[in-house]
Amino acid sequence: MTTAGSDLAETDHRFTRKEHDLRLRVLELGDRGEQGHLLAFGEVADDCLVRLHSRCLYGDALRSDDCDCGPELDATLDMFQAEGAGVLIYLEQEGRGAGLVAKARGYRHSERYGTDTFASYEALGYPADCRTYDLAAQRLSALGLRSVRLLTNNPAKIDAVHAAGIAVTPVPLLTPVHGRRARKYLEAKRTRRGHRIPIVYIPVVGFSARSMRGRWTSHLGVELIVPIAILCGLMVHFGQLGSAAGTALGALVAFAVAARQRARFARSK
Ligand SMILES: [Zn+2]
Repeated sequence: MTTAGSDLAETDHRFTRKEHDLRLRVLELGDRGEQGHLLAFGEVADDCLVRLHSRCLYGDALRSDDCDCGPELDATLDMFQAEGAGVLIYLEQEGRGAGLVAKARGYRHSERYGTDTFASYEALGYPADCRTYDLAAQRLSALGLRSVRLLTNNPAKIDAVHAAGIAVTPVPLLTPVHGRRARKYLEAKRTRRGHRIPIVYIPVVGFSARSMRGRWTSHLGVELIVPIAILCGLMVHFGQLGSAAGTALGALVAFAVAARQRARFARSK
């Protein structure tokens, strides 16, 4: 057994969540865990689920709606518990590696100037993203893993684990996200950092929790229904009845798909 394995054995205990037990072992990354912790749930073996998760106080602990970190962590643990195993590497890389104060300053800048969080960081003199995943990948390798299913939309994580000599099967993490700011955050991650978030997912998650209780206040409705209605009205006005009918039908199909996905996300939450 490796040194990492021996350290893990000393921490072996039971973890209970949602009334289900899982065996859990913990390993420090860096002195006293200053760079994070590796948490091995259940019996870890090749092809197990793995999540590299950077610390986010607002999302993970305070349950903020402004990012997808909390729902990502929830989805990860749900999947670990469903499979009975998984490795979570929780990295002390708050604020994309720049810290909580930098993150707060970035939010403030975004509120004042309407920029996305990456542009705000750059304007404030912070690197857009200085997180690294090399140490986490090395620890996975030290566990003896040669292949993993990596829960991520982030190509940088896939590259780091692959570079450690581990075969990676990416598993996209699609989570219910509420609020306009979170949606903008996802859009920025997709367009600025190449995160593999399906485009359809962005507008679908625009449905707020309030709209899911029956009130027609979703972003999707506000942003798309009114322009589509105006467009159809103009087409009818100018005698383009066929085009108007086609547009309305297309919109109806899109909304039906969106509603179906919304229900799926709600069920998976
Ligand atoms: Zn977050």
